[in-house]
Amino acid sequence: MNIQHTVHATVPGYPRIGAHRELKRAVESYWSGRIDHAALEESAAAIRAQMLDDLAEAGLDSLPTGVFSLYDHMLDTAFAVDAVAPRHRRENELDSYFAAARGDERAVPLEMTKWFDTNYHYLVPEIGPGTAFAARPGKAVAEYAEAAGRGLDARPVLVGPVTFLLLAKPDADAPEGFAPLDRLDDLVEAYAEIIAALTEAGAERIQIDEPALCADRTPAELDAVRRAYDRLAGLAELIVTGGYGPFGSALPVLLEAGAAGIALDLVRGRDDLDLLASLNVSRETFLLAGVVDGRNIWRTDAAGAAADLERVAALTDRPGVSTSCSLLHVPVDLEAEGDLPDALVERLSFARQKLREVVALADPAAPRPTRPDAPDHWRDQAVRSRLAALGDGADRRVPYAEREAAQIELPPLPTTTIGSFPQTAEIRRARAAHRKGLMIDGDYRSRMRAEVAAVVAEQEKAGLDVLVHGEPERNDMVQYFAEQLTGFAVTASGWVQSYGSRCVRPPILYGDVARTEPMTVEWTGYAQSLTDKPVKGMLTGPVTILAWSFVRDDQQLSETADQVALALREEVADLEGAGTAIIQVDEPALRELLPLRADRRGDYKRWATRAFRLATSGVGAETQIHTHLCYSEFGEVIDAIADLDADVTSIEASRSKMEVLADLDRADYRRGIGPGVWDIHSPRVPAVGEMAESLRLAVRAVDARRVWANPDCGLKTRRYEEVRPALANLVEAARIVRAELE
Ligand code: GLN
Ligand code: ZN
Repeated sequence: MNIQHTVHATVPGYPRIGAHRELKRAVESYWSGRIDHAALEESAAAIRAQMLDDLAEAGLDSLPTGVFSLYDHMLDTAFAVDAVAPRHRRENELDSYFAAARGDERAVPLEMTKWFDTNYHYLVPEIGPGTAFAARPGKAVAEYAEAAGRGLDARPVLVGPVTFLLLAKPDADAPEGFAPLDRLDDLVEAYAEIIAALTEAGAERIQIDEPALCADRTPAELDAVRRAYDRLAGLAELIVTGGYGPFGSALPVLLEAGAAGIALDLVRGRDDLDLLASLNVSRETFLLAGVVDGRNIWRTDAAGAAADLERVAALTDRPGVSTSCSLLHVPVDLEAEGDLPDALVERLSFARQKLREVVALADPAAPRPTRPDAPDHWRDQAVRSRLAALGDGADRRVPYAEREAAQIELPPLPTTTIGSFPQTAEIRRARAAHRKGLMIDGDYRSRMRAEVAAVVAEQEKAGLDVLVHGEPERNDMVQYFAEQLTGFAVTASGWVQSYGSRCVRPPILYGDVARTEPMTVEWTGYAQSLTDKPVKGMLTGPVTILAWSFVRDDQQLSETADQVALALREEVADLEGAGTAIIQVDEPALRELLPLRADRRGDYKRWATRAFRLATSGVGAETQIHTHLCYSEFGEVIDAIADLDADVTSIEASRSKMEVLADLDRADYRRGIGPGVWDIHSPRVPAVGEMAESLRLAVRAVDARRVWANPDCGLKTRRYEEVRPALANLVEAARIVRAELE
């Protein structure tokens, strides 16, 4: 029997930043006026051509188009259905697009938030009762034509209408009670027109991404899915993808509504396999088995993947194989890395390599090697023994009430910052020179020490109560630690899009994690030697380190978290030993890793908060533990915040006008709280009166003795011209409200 070519190989999406971050250079040059629209379009076309080359050369049977973006695919979708806020409409469409993405002199941009449980950020469309949807298929058709013109089997990709609306927010004109999903029927008509334009152009199959169906959905929402796909499924062969876990109850709905194909995430959503087998799927259904992990950088265990693929292939006459989701979340090419150890390289696979894995899995003649176990030297028995010896004892601190009495005495409404000070061009130049070997270690260190001294002087001048060293020596709050811990590797050019032109290089956590020597003590100690005010120690928490790294997939995340936490626990102990009275452990990603499905959240919160406590509970009652969270919508994690058992928590609060305090109060949070009174995402310097008003709201909402005065987040992206007056105003605002309290 010749079953060659019966398994269809494809992927749902591909990195769109270019192999060398060409997108970043192109759009940033355009924004700064160095290149014009035509030159930007030329660079974009070159990136798209490279994407098509990669996809075509790998030998896939079909490929996705329309997945390129100048900024964000949700923003592209908003433009494709003309859901553009009136404040962003400009004479030419590109100006509108970037006004919505970044704001301009006339309007603030759309809000930006995290895409499911990833570190990618999308722009939040604003939809109201008056949004006049209209089909604007130009981009989708043009990108389809680029691929089809080369004779490739191309499949246009659209963000699905249900996901688009579920991720949108009501616009300013929407009445109370309005939900964007109320507009589904109108939106679907615009989609029908876009699909018609694509089929007119020759497309037969269209991929509709509905990742929102990987989260829990209400019966009403599933009804919306049914309505949308009942209407659209007849217009073309629709392949629906999820990509961020199992479809669960959405799966039968999609199939009944006539979706011609389903792309399954068989890395995180393997539960769908059993469900699918029970559903009596038509053998005509195109079933894509997403067995190659699109979210992580490990080489696939081909034996295991092939077994899952076979289970899918048994259910249909049209089986396919793909990555579990778009390759948006992995770097482009492993070949670009020169310095990684061989044992690691052998186990890695970036986007280009994953394409080949997919193609090999579709080929019944290709070998199916099992993935080799990790080499012995990646295992650190000492770490494992230390963790085992700690056991549950790692959690216990004396109760908060006793700690509070023992801790450092400060004036009411103590003023502080979140940690980083402006990363000036000079700091970045010095770091680049050091990295390239043009500046020797000693010179670099003295340059950074000088910066610390300057930051301390700034804070004393401003009159802050609790100082920081400013983090000038940190390239990034995760990479800085990854570079010093065993079990981590950092890449030379493993860039992944975070938002727009901004890319990050997540470290690779491949083995057991251990600390070999103190990582921060010298910097904090140096800062402390320059002042009589207390200097806060500053660490990144275990959950955030995991969230912003590629993590190993050969053991439970909770186990990896404990290892990172143990290393941090040792650092915390050293800081305390060096006389640091206040230690902050940042967990801005605590919410990001929250599972999309409610039934998995309890388990996550248990291990995540346990890891934090493991990192921080080794200190005496007199040492004050702070944490910092970077968002204000607590909802789902509010109980977890209490379980961190930190003495003081700083949060983002200025944009929500301190509303989050009422939530904390309702959740019975009775610890120190630093609601941000300065929105550091904006260059605006808040006035004294404004910050004083925020503090008044705070002292009214929660016990005044527990309130701290601080900005929303670190200051690394701000300039000193903004930071100096804003800090002076912050200190003055605290002084005024303090006086009112007495
Ligand atoms: N301490 C870090 C800083 O100030 C916290 C950053 C963050 O919350 N993302 O930069
Ligand atoms: Zn923050």
